Amino acid sequence: MKNIDAVGFDMDYTLAQYKPETFESLAYEGTVEKLVTSLGYPREVMKLSFDWTYMVRGLVLDKKRGNVLKMDRHKYVKVAYHGFRLMSKNEKVSTYGNGFIRDAFDGPDYAHIDTLFSLAEGYLFAQLVDYKDANPGKLSESKDYARIYTDVRAAVDMCHRDGTLKRMVAKDPQKYINEDNSIVPMLKMLKTSGHAVFLVTNSLWDYTNVVMNYVFGERVIDGSSSLSLDWLQHFDFIITGSAKPGFFHDENRANLFMVEPDSGKLINTDNGTPLAQVGSPDIELPDDIPNTRCKVFQGGNVGHLHKLLKVGSSSQVLYVGDHIYGDILRSKKILGWRTMLVVPELEKEVQVLASSRDTRKKLNLLRSERDQIEDQTHHLKWSLEHDDLDAGEKQKITSKLDLLEAQRARVRAAHQESQRIFHQKFHPVWGQLMKAGYQNSRFAHQVERFACLYTSQVGNLGLYSPAKYYRPGEDFMPHESDTLSQ
Ligand code: IMP
Ligand code: MG
Repeated sequence: MKNIDAVGFDMDYTLAQYKPETFESLAYEGTVEKLVTSLGYPREVMKLSFDWTYMVRGLVLDKKRGNVLKMDRHKYVKVAYHGFRLMSKNEKVSTYGNGFIRDAFDGPDYAHIDTLFSLAEGYLFAQLVDYKDANPGKLSESKDYARIYTDVRAAVDMCHRDGTLKRMVAKDPQKYINEDNSIVPMLKMLKTSGHAVFLVTNSLWDYTNVVMNYVFGERVIDGSSSLSLDWLQHFDFIITGSAKPGFFHDENRANLFMVEPDSGKLINTDNGTPLAQVGSPDIELPDDIPNTRCKVFQGGNVGHLHKLLKVGSSSQVLYVGDHIYGDILRSKKILGWRTMLVVPELEKEVQVLASSRDTRKKLNLLRSERDQIEDQTHHLKWSLEHDDLDAGEKQKITSKLDLLEAQRARVRAAHQESQRIFHQKFHPVWGQLMKAGYQNSRFAHQVERFACLYTSQVGNLGLYSPAKYYRPGEDFMPHESDTLSQ
């Protein structure tokens, strides 16, 4: 952190943690309504209801086949559902293969649930897949699974863009956003220690202002008149409507506008036409505008931000966000920024891990027991085929093999059952977020590759010194971790 000059934050699901039970339900209801009123879905779709706990991040939607998949870091599909029907192992393997060469799952036929904003969308897709299967003829011919996905996506998008969600949140932020008293002290600490602090959000100014008022402790908000601009003091710059991840592309030519915080008006426009660009070499920030009035912007690109921050090398920036693709991947890969991913799901993940030490030990024992039995079996089979044995010896080995086979079946069943129970402690359908079987899940793999740091909530950054050296975790190869666990 000593080498970091500027620390930036995303807003939605990073500084502002939405309550999925209310916020995602709102998104779900708005989406269903749009499907019925604007996209020609039957009214009875309105009767469907939402279980906000069902979907998890890291899942992949197979749009054409109507399937929901959980895979490991090698893209091996570990769990697959068609709608809400569990696919058998045979069905899964015949569709997605078992070998090394696998679909990349990143073409247009797949969609990734990689933000908490997508939970409702994924759930509704699975529901409509089941609905289509159970009600032949009720949806028009053209609505195949892929089209259903496109419609759901379009309807979710509408809810975000036409203010359906934002109006409701603005009316009663407390209902939709968690209180978090750790944010202000954390931001103060960063500023006091000399870091520049900035916000880059895809939300526009009016909504950003409402949400940040709530986040910064203005708990009673009844209409925009009670909104205060006090929270601006915690930030050097605020960029709204940033259109991440495009924002992180230097060649992106989006104009940067100054926002007048009281009115929300864009300042450097001439009837909508952009004037000279703020942050470009030939323009300085105007001196006559008081400090709080000249630090809110809309649009632009990372080049503008670097100039505003006056940072020399991009690795002097740490950006904290919740979305691997929107916030983390490009900022790290293209710009070399340091990144921190917020993963609220970690809280439960860590709790369950801590409370299941005995189960994990038992699982490891069962696994090595399976290994040993299989090794013994292979030795005996080898000697049966290749050693020079008399009939009595052969008979002995055959009986031993029968015993071992029975033992192997028992241990295998116990192992699989214990593993199933263990995974269900994390999530009854999808299991542990960061694992798929014994491998890291696709989600965990992305976290490892693209996030320099990851944590369950943004305020945790305030638990450590702003000069802390965050050491990378130690890599283990199989022979090393075996030695440790003995
Ligand atoms: P951020 O996380 O602070 O960058 O903001 C995310 C913004 O993206 C919020 O204003 C969301 O309402 C918006 N958003 C999330 N999903 C969608 C979508 O599917 N379409 C349009 N906007 C979205
Ligand atoms: Mg976000």
